[in-house]
Amino acid sequence: VKQDPNEPEFHQAVAVFLQSIYPLLEKEPQYIEKGILKQIVEPERVITFRVTWVDDNGKTQVNRGYRVQFNSAIGPFKGGLRFHPSVNTSIVKFLGFEQTFKNSLTGQPIGGGKGGSNFDPKGKSDNEIMRFCQSFMTELARYIGPDIDVPAGDLGVGAREIGYMFGQYKRLRGAYEAGVITGKAPDFGGSLGRTEATGYGTIYFVQEMLKDNRMRLEGSTIAVSGSGNVSIYAMEKASQLGARVVACSDTTGYIYNEKGIDVDTVKEIKLKRKGRIKEYLDFHPDTTYSEDCAGIWSVPCGIALPCATQNELDEEHAITLVKNGVKVVAEGANMPCTPKATEVFLNNGVLFGPAKAANAGGVAVSQLEMAQNSMRLKWTFEEVDERLQDIMKSIYRNCVDATKEFDNATNLIQGANIAGFKKVADAMIAQGVI
Ligand code: NDP
Repeated sequence: VKQDPNEPEFHQAVAVFLQSIYPLLEKEPQYIEKGILKQIVEPERVITFRVTWVDDNGKTQVNRGYRVQFNSAIGPFKGGLRFHPSVNTSIVKFLGFEQTFKNSLTGQPIGGGKGGSNFDPKGKSDNEIMRFCQSFMTELARYIGPDIDVPAGDLGVGAREIGYMFGQYKRLRGAYEAGVITGKAPDFGGSLGRTEATGYGTIYFVQEMLKDNRMRLEGSTIAVSGSGNVSIYAMEKASQLGARVVACSDTTGYIYNEKGIDVDTVKEIKLKRKGRIKEYLDFHPDTTYSEDCAGIWSVPCGIALPCATQNELDEEHAITLVKNGVKVVAEGANMPCTPKATEVFLNNGVLFGPAKAANAGGVAVSQLEMAQNSMRLKWTFEEVDERLQDIMKSIYRNCVDATKEFDNATNLIQGANIAGFKKVADAMIAQGVI
């Protein structure tokens, strides 16, 4: 904290993590004795760079680009790129830190990284987005490669942006290295099922939590914050499996309908028209709308899925959810619950699926994309989805098993952190500690 006082999100993530793996450190002191703890909180490399681009009015614009190569003990750095005005060193370090253990938990050979820019894609023309992505990649290309560091999408970075960045990388290298970036369109090396993977994966994880506690997804009521990539596909899979999604939101407000929200309408508004969630009322006037987007947590539901952004669900929201009978909370977004909110859930017997585990489906399928690129193969949607289900089941099992060693198998945060940490830390020891 003394060295980097302006990194609150990063400090929050590290503090929660270290606290939760404390029982392991007590039992196996070699992780402290061999200096692993000190190393694991320090990124291997933090890269910042200038991104200059020309807007549609011919004006030169300058943004800052970031890539944090956090840990490569178990594989090449892997993690998304976020384009959002809030992006800074703290955010990228917190995301890269979390990504390291999330990737480890998937059981696949991928290290942790994250990156992005404070560029705001909102309101930019397609040509401006293209020029920005090309300029961003011109610099980033020096540091990445299929065996070095493999970026992907995140907030503000979807298939369009990935396409522009991949095109620029190809131009610079003069070679078709498909495995350098994931989230590509399926026509040029992308994996089928990647778009759906994080949201579907969250629901597969919730299914395991429920099954293990003799509860069912079918017939449950769910509130899902956000209406972006993760939220929409979580809503879609939950509805397909017989649950009733009653609320969702965006940055301008939330909608609620106790009879259920129609996911296809949300897709039409948010994905096709790039509109506001309020427009849902034009199609389904019996729905209620409120401009207070955090108000979604006052909706009565059995399952709450925060899928929008970090720290969107605080202690007060958690208390309201518990009062209203919530039984399961799973984090589709990264760190959406504040530490105090999480405490409320754990103290009140709510089953809690932490982000690292519950939203790992996206990166897991990204790794399947890398595997298909290496083999020059293309799997069907069903093949990918089946592998995703297996991966989510095994992540759940790993969390529970790690928790059982130290706890009574209810604290999956501890389980996810311990299981993710052990694999990375053991690899670091095996590769020699300097
Ligand atoms: P998107 O940009 O596709 O969607 C984000 C959604 O959340 C948008 O609907 C946005 O509203 C809404 N939103 C943002 N802030 C708030 C808020 N405070 N209250 C209510 N709604 C809000 O992002 P993704 O779905 O891809 O990502 C969401 C989260 O999931 C992020 O934390 C990301 O890091 C994480 N994640 C994503 C993965 C992926 O595969 N996409 C993988 C793993 C984690 P609006 O439309 O108004 O902007």
